Amino acid sequence: MYLSTRGNIDAQTSAQAIALGMVPQGGLFVPQEIPCVDWKQYANCSYAELALQIMKLYCGDLPAGTLEEAVKVYGDGRFDTSNPAPLVEVGGCGMLELWHGPTAAFKDMALQVLPYLLTASIKELGLDVEVLILTATSGDTGKAALDGFKDVPGTRIVVFYPDGGVSAVQERQMVTTGGGNTFVVAVNGNFDECQTAVKKIFSSEELRQKLNANHMVFSSANSINWGRLLPQIVYYFWAYLEAVRLGRTAAEEKINIVVPTGNFGNILAAYYAKRMGLPLGKLICASNKNNVLTDFFTAGTYESNRPFYLTSSPSMDILISSNFERFLFEVSGRDAGKTSSWFQRLSSEGKFSVDPDTLTACRENMIAGWTDEEGVFETIKKVYEEDNYLLDPHTAVAMKVYNDYRENSGDKTFTVLTSTASPFKFAQSVLTAIAGDSYRECGPWEALTRLSALTGWDIPSGLQGLREKPAQKVYRCQPEEITAYLERKFLKD
Ligand SMILES: *Cc1c(COP(=O)(O)O)cnc(C)c1O
Repeated sequence: MYLSTRGNIDAQTSAQAIALGMVPQGGLFVPQEIPCVDWKQYANCSYAELALQIMKLYCGDLPAGTLEEAVKVYGDGRFDTSNPAPLVEVGGCGMLELWHGPTAAFKDMALQVLPYLLTASIKELGLDVEVLILTATSGDTGKAALDGFKDVPGTRIVVFYPDGGVSAVQERQMVTTGGGNTFVVAVNGNFDECQTAVKKIFSSEELRQKLNANHMVFSSANSINWGRLLPQIVYYFWAYLEAVRLGRTAAEEKINIVVPTGNFGNILAAYYAKRMGLPLGKLICASNKNNVLTDFFTAGTYESNRPFYLTSSPSMDILISSNFERFLFEVSGRDAGKTSSWFQRLSSEGKFSVDPDTLTACRENMIAGWTDEEGVFETIKKVYEEDNYLLDPHTAVAMKVYNDYRENSGDKTFTVLTSTASPFKFAQSVLTAIAGDSYRECGPWEALTRLSALTGWDIPSGLQGLREKPAQKVYRCQPEEITAYLERKFLKD
């Protein structure tokens, strides 16, 4: 069963939690119990088998066969490697490459599976409805969600992205998805404004009723949906098993994890994996110049009223990090009263402070650091020159923060970085970093081929031929016009 972080709804089954996406009155679903397991029992599992075993622990109520069907995505050719999450060694640490899926970002690890979980949840609940999936994106979630839900019967998906706030490649990827059930909206605002607008729609009782009258329900493909987080827990187990198989760590010895963080979903999955008994040491939360989380870990105050920066790692350009609510709920001893007051204050006043005990608990569980753009570009260059390996700007944030951590702490523990995007997704930045400013003028499409020519790395198949593909129409609007758009587009009355 699943509880609300704000204690404002009865315990729900996994089908209900996944179908709803978030608690309608505000709040996020968390598992009532976190199962403890012995990682060794999975030593001989394929990735798909591991995913099945882990996900089973959390959604036993889904119709028989759902998970078996869902995990086939990891072995049916849609990932361009037979191992969907290879761990490669780079400069003494482990790079967990999570971008071998169809859209070349780690979001595929979960968003290829979520459509199976969501449609099965609707079926389990006996609902004869169509699901209208609303998704805010800072770039990568949008494409991965569109791709995952494209032509899935019983679903329609609308993606909202910040106009001008995503890369040319990301935008092109989104508008070339095709499929009869996908819609793309460019919002005149930043990611936080998109996400806040979408959350508001979820909590509008009036819209919910109108939707129901049209035999539809809302759900979410953002990591506020538990169905997004669950498949992400799997790859931390996989990383550990791979580290043992590669002889980089002894069985039961802890490894550290570094995650380039935006909405806090990826690192939260690492936290849950650790709670499940996986031998993880330090969890390191790496941010770009939008360093709201680093400041929180320093001072105990979460302050979203601050300058917003567009950086070379757009998927981390986030000031309201949704899943942080789940983390604070957990480390405060599952105090729904406190969690609720913090996050209500965040939405009304733009900030909140936690008590010293909670801050201590946060720091016991996680370390936070950040880097500026210079650090990102230098790191991409250095790693390319020293290790002949290409980092995308998000992964470079993680690498820089980790290098700083290792230098300051002297911690020699084997460390795994989650590599969240193919460098080709951000080819202009990567090319500029490794080959200098003369490439700054190079357009986004030319950058792809130049980067490939220069390095000998292949352009991922999902990014090939993008420029020529037919584009669908994008609707452009203000954040406050989203509701009217949805009503016009999807509701008859
Ligand atoms: C989404 C994304 C992130 C941030 O992940 P969160 O789960 O939102 O913290 C980092 N890097 C890339 C490339 C992403 O697409």
